[in-house]
Amino acid sequence: MAAASVPVVGITGGIGSGKTAVTDQLQALGITVVDADLAARVIMEPGRPALAAVAARFGEAILLADGQLDRAALRRIVFADASQRQWLEQLTHPLIGEEIVRQLAAADSPYVVLSSPLLLETSQKTLCDTVVVVDVPEQMQLQRTMQRDANDEAQVRRIMAAQLSREERLAGADRVIDNSGSLAELRAQVEGLHRDLLEALGPAAGDRT
Ligand code: ATP
Repeated sequence: MAAASVPVVGITGGIGSGKTAVTDQLQALGITVVDADLAARVIMEPGRPALAAVAARFGEAILLADGQLDRAALRRIVFADASQRQWLEQLTHPLIGEEIVRQLAAADSPYVVLSSPLLLETSQKTLCDTVVVVDVPEQMQLQRTMQRDANDEAQVRRIMAAQLSREERLAGADRVIDNSGSLAELRAQVEGLHRDLLEALGPAAGDRT
């Protein structure tokens, strides 16, 4: 499916795998990055129908004093109960998809990146011409996420359990970035990816960054 006038490069990986580290660098190289997590926030802003539906189902206690969604409270509910998660996904995934398509269509670079932790789990993958998986061993994923966030180990493990396994994710990859090394090693791989993508697009593409 052509979601944008330029190729769409999907970037995925489990929680804490290093997607943001990769996409920050691509953005610095001039590439438009569409972030599925940000799109998910946009569709849940106050005044949007998705937030009203969530408040109707879980009660006003799911909202913060300023009317914004209490994300931590919603996370606790849906990661403890698969049927609630399914309900939420049925509500939000089509809306997130529409928002992503809107942002991809506005891309202003030789290729556009769609970064999403759930790229392979959802129809978001159908928007991509190629899929790059950021891969780390699960123990490292856990450690880096716990170091970054205030979440405890059990909470991170629950989120990991709701995502594809490492093997399933790798099976969906056209290209793999190994982020088990240093940040400098990651940067070198991202530069290589960027070079290869521009090369595949032809000589004129690099001039636009
Ligand atoms: P999420 O899905 O939760 O948004 P993510 O895939 O975007 O996570 P990042 O936030 O990029 O992951 O990385 C997780 C944490 O690990 C961050 O604190 C980041 O700085 C750190 N990190 C990423 N790559 C490396 C690396 N190669 N060496 C050391 N720390 C790293």
